[in-house]
Amino acid sequence: MLAEHMTWIEYRDKVKHSVVILPMGAFEQHGPHLPLNVDVIIPTSFANLVAAKVDGMVLPPVTYGYKSQPTSGGGPLFPGTTSLDGDTLTHFILDILRDTYRHGGRKFLLLNGHYENVAFATEAVDLFLREAKDVKIVILSWWEQVPDELVPELFEGAGFPGWDTEHAGITETSLMLFFAPELVRKDKIIDDQAARIPKYAIFPPSKDIIPASGVLYKATYASLEKGEIICKQVTDVIVTIVKQEFNARSQ
Ligand SMILES: [Zn+2]
Repeated sequence: MLAEHMTWIEYRDKVKHSVVILPMGAFEQHGPHLPLNVDVIIPTSFANLVAAKVDGMVLPPVTYGYKSQPTSGGGPLFPGTTSLDGDTLTHFILDILRDTYRHGGRKFLLLNGHYENVAFATEAVDLFLREAKDVKIVILSWWEQVPDELVPELFEGAGFPGWDTEHAGITETSLMLFFAPELVRKDKIIDDQAARIPKYAIFPPSKDIIPASGVLYKATYASLEKGEIICKQVTDVIVTIVKQEFNARSQ
């Protein structure tokens, strides 16, 4: 299932028939309680769970992402947050798609865990499709697959702030408590929020739109139980998408 653990012979025999899943993340601050690679761990965990159910293949993840923005990730000033230029990210993804295609990959799922990556993954796919024939590609972000009915339950008492603001907040903290509890500093989980959240971008960013902690929402409402529910439901949704989009195409 994990391409990195396969021999070239196993890879050769699997890549042509499998849905090839590329997790895409970032190296970005996630508050005082979560590690810098949350956006890698979450989509990679989903990729592994989905691959097991659809006989998929998981490629090594993209571990850096597009530039963290103040109102969706805290921005570039936090120590550790290390981002790529859009062009670099686009071509990094494009190169992976090209070479996997050269080896026979035709069905791709780009499974995103970092808010700012989407446009550049889309650009990579658009450039790829100018040359690749007979391929199908799905790009999705895990939070968009959280069923709408589940949102009130997850955000009960806190209120739903919108997915862009949900950074190092309830859902990411809950999923980390479920996927990698040993990496969560439980005694450092806090609620925070920017003094104001403008509906426009400011350059250079003004300080009052970035909480000093890097937590953009109320992380104390997170729980292991919520992580388990999100994990199960989002995995089911992605499996359904994969079956629908890729089986429809298989002869
Ligand atoms: Zn994140």
